[in-house]
Amino acid sequence: MNAEIIAIGSELTSGAKLDTNSQWLSVELSEIGIPVKYHSTMADDRDAMLEVFRTAANRSDLVLVTGGLGPTLDDLTRELLAELTGTELVLDEPSLAFIRDMFEKRGRVMPERNDIQAKFPAGSTPLPNPIGTAPGIWCEVSRDGRTSALFAAMPGVPSEMKRMFAEQVRPRLPGGQQVIRRLDIHCFGQGESAIEEMLGDLTARGRNPEVGITASKATITLRIAAQADSIDACNRMLAESRQQICATLGDLIFGEQSETLEGTVLKRLAERGQTVAIVDAGTFGLICQMAAATPHSATSFSGGTVVGTALKYQAGSGTQADLVTEQSARQMAIECRESFGSSFALAITPYSEPDGDDGLRKCYLALAGPDICAAHEHQILNDMSIAGPRAAKTAFNMLRRHLLTRE
Ligand code: AMP
Ligand code: MG
Repeated sequence: MNAEIIAIGSELTSGAKLDTNSQWLSVELSEIGIPVKYHSTMADDRDAMLEVFRTAANRSDLVLVTGGLGPTLDDLTRELLAELTGTELVLDEPSLAFIRDMFEKRGRVMPERNDIQAKFPAGSTPLPNPIGTAPGIWCEVSRDGRTSALFAAMPGVPSEMKRMFAEQVRPRLPGGQQVIRRLDIHCFGQGESAIEEMLGDLTARGRNPEVGITASKATITLRIAAQADSIDACNRMLAESRQQICATLGDLIFGEQSETLEGTVLKRLAERGQTVAIVDAGTFGLICQMAAATPHSATSFSGGTVVGTALKYQAGSGTQADLVTEQSARQMAIECRESFGSSFALAITPYSEPDGDDGLRKCYLALAGPDICAAHEHQILNDMSIAGPRAAKTAFNMLRRHLLTRE
């Protein structure tokens, strides 16, 4: 069975709104092993809709439609499904009673126009909408007189669509399907291609579980997807792949699913009853913000200082170049640790001026603690949107790796 998703609404094609329904539905269908081959988005336009509905019925087994079920003249889904199935719209009394009741509960009288929402193509099945006035429609559209495509039309409002899909559509989809379960494993400290090379055949296409690699702001994520006929089987396959990946990548791995690098570091500190303070002259406060936003910041983040380098020049302590040194980074970390009275301190120096033909910049990162005072040079990438997060994460990673040696 292959599926197609159709999103209707002029607000979508005009660019005023983003079609999020198709994305959500695709993820849901992939969870139950139904591949989605097409997404189509079109305006509330009769010709466009009819053309796309016809094409979808001819090429897909399951067609999920969202939008165009409202009571106004530009809501055409219901009418066009009747045309497509060669039927008339007929009134469904229980649906009408429900919609009328919905208005009454809100202290209003149902406008006459809304009774259109209780009309359905003859032979179709109304799909109740407990939180809105637009019921959905479940019907079969014949393609060649012998086979047919299943159509489910749902409201455009995302909350109503999601509930209707979960309660009304999903249970109607053919059973005995494969299930898909996913696991994300996050790494830091090597590039995407280096990690891919280390993993070898594990990332081969067509493998089950499939292991994909994505990079986001210097964090490398392995996305594992296992497909099988039961959740238990999927979980066993995921566990096996996880074990293989852990054996290969070892300490490069810092967490799974929604965990972040800074989150795991602060969590570990909390477990050890330790704290970290941060002095930042490089990332404009980003590293402090990252620490402050973690769940364990209340217990393990002592505080941070965002240093404006201008102050140092005014005080006559030299030029910016003097600040971008290993020595300066260590000094910053030691002073920060003392002033906050924390177990550890991380420091980021200012970035150097661009150097050489490729305009590379650098800074120094330092870690001070009970039995450590280390600093190292850090290359700044030209892409500034990645440079800050990457420098901040590299600093957190220094602390993470230090903690690993003191387990
Ligand atoms: P409709 O069912 O077409 O009347 O849509 C009702 C509301 O749901 C619209 O005002 C849209 O803002 C929203 N909506 C419709 N389709 C989508 C979609 N594909 N993705 C996200 N929001 C949508
Ligand atoms: Mg609409």
